[in-house]
Amino acid sequence: MLFQIKGLSRHFTEETLRAHLLSRATRAENGCLIVRGYGAQRGVYQKLAGRAWAHIAAYVVFVGGYDPTLEVHHDCGAPDCIEPSHLRQRSRADNCRDRAQRPQCRNGHDREIDPATGRFRRVCRICNRQAQQRWRARQAAEVAEARTAYGRTPSAPTR
Ligand SMILES: [Zn+2]
Ligand SMILES: [Zn+2]
Repeated sequence: MLFQIKGLSRHFTEETLRAHLLSRATRAENGCLIVRGYGAQRGVYQKLAGRAWAHIAAYVVFVGGYDPTLEVHHDCGAPDCIEPSHLRQRSRADNCRDRAQRPQCRNGHDREIDPATGRFRRVCRICNRQAQQRWRARQAAEVAEARTAYGRTPSAPTR
């Protein structure tokens, strides 16, 4: 699906593009495969093979199933990395939602950090507890109502 790579020089095949990417890349100690594009600046997105983004080209030929409507995200946070296992496609909306985690829930409670992810928990504990309390109150009210109704019915005949 090389036609999906914007700006890619036409003479590449999947095979030669793979070889080209690898010939310009160096394995870093942390596992990243850092590619050298045209620019002198390192640590930023790299262009090569015409005017193609290296990480997108790498996603297409090493990962596969590229969806041009989605961005290619770096799990390692290094924009010039083309290690296939560090590349993931996420929608723009996903990226924005993640960045814009608000510190309070919609009812204004301070949200808790989940130590496992280092991010705010999705469920607010206070809201959750209040919802449970409302549910229990509703249940209790229903039971009380049922008892009252039962008491009103002329059940046992009095003699
Ligand atoms: Zn990486
Ligand atoms: Zn809340």
